[in-house]
Amino acid sequence: MSKPLIAPGATVGIIGGGQLGRMIAVAAAQYGLKAHIYCPDPDSPAFEVAGRRTVAAYDDAAALQAFVESVDVVTYEFENIPSRTAEILAAHRPLHPSASALATTQDRLTEKSFVAGLGIPVAPFRAVDDAAGLAQAVREIGLPAVLKTRRFGYDGKGQLMLRQEDFGEAGFDPAAAMASLHDQPCILEGFVPFEAEVSVVAARNAEGRFSAYAPCANEHRHHILARTVVPAPGMTPETAAEAVSIARAIAEALDYVGVLAVEMFLVRGADGRAGVVVNEIAPRVHNSGHWTIEGAETSQFAQHVRAICGWPLGSPALTGRSVEMLNLIGDQADDWTRILAEPGSHLHLYGKGAARPGRKMGHLTRVATGA
Ligand code: AMP
Repeated sequence: MSKPLIAPGATVGIIGGGQLGRMIAVAAAQYGLKAHIYCPDPDSPAFEVAGRRTVAAYDDAAALQAFVESVDVVTYEFENIPSRTAEILAAHRPLHPSASALATTQDRLTEKSFVAGLGIPVAPFRAVDDAAGLAQAVREIGLPAVLKTRRFGYDGKGQLMLRQEDFGEAGFDPAAAMASLHDQPCILEGFVPFEAEVSVVAARNAEGRFSAYAPCANEHRHHILARTVVPAPGMTPETAAEAVSIARAIAEALDYVGVLAVEMFLVRGADGRAGVVVNEIAPRVHNSGHWTIEGAETSQFAQHVRAICGWPLGSPALTGRSVEMLNLIGDQADDWTRILAEPGSHLHLYGKGAARPGRKMGHLTRVATGA
């Protein structure tokens, strides 16, 4: 017997109350679903748009228990959820993506080993636990390289670029490098000389149906996504197809349910052939998929809700010829009246209080139609 569908009127539980949770809740509402947001921060932007909220720590077993019993399906908007929390949730209601997909992708070492094990290109990498291990890894991989904490990294946090030319007379000091990342378990990755950064946002449902949006090109400023463009300029149809088939292989191997994003580097081999190298997997809706709200037939948030509810996936087709998404970081959101006045520009503000530097306050999307 096939599993019962989650019907309109049911409640989607969302762990995390940031802008991603907020946009998932809005998409759920479009389909007549209710949302219950769980987040420790009482000022969470997602609370504004959800009928129910729980303000509690992510390891508060009693609060998690009460939360999970009040919902029909659980999802999350960020991957740094303690594994014990995922277990408590999954013991009572369907958790999508699964606790095991979460465990694989929330640690850079298990994630890279998993992707490499599928025969998919990744940067050369080594586990690094201490200064001696880092010195050895640098000998094996060479420089330049990127040292990253295995867990809790985002927007370039928990990362250190290692370049020979930065070390001066004294040379490379592995102990200082480890100390700057608080001596946490790390991985060292060889630097990938990429032409562009691209991502594939895709969805898979429990029946194994898979649907991917066109790969997008992502430009970062100060390690934070600044601009996404679709279709990705400079990506041939063959490379785009290769990128999508990699995302599919990853989703299938994880037995993934929901939307995921696979971040990749676009590279060119010595023979001049283009290819992609996987950087990381985000087991959730992703900033590089925000353009889909107006730029695709089905937004990534609606697609995620469909996938986790066991509903048929929607069309990922573009609604125009090309799409551009710009993040509004810090005081860039102060420009909202100018953006509102711009024909064809779609403004999204996340309802956050202080516009601190580096904080994602909103985004805007422009869809180019016509010839
Ligand atoms: P991440 O947190 O892994 O997404 O890394 C943040 C950014 O650092 C990426 O978007 C790249 O711009 C850069 N980066 C990370 N890893 C590498 C690498 N192995 N080679 C070159 N650039 C990298």
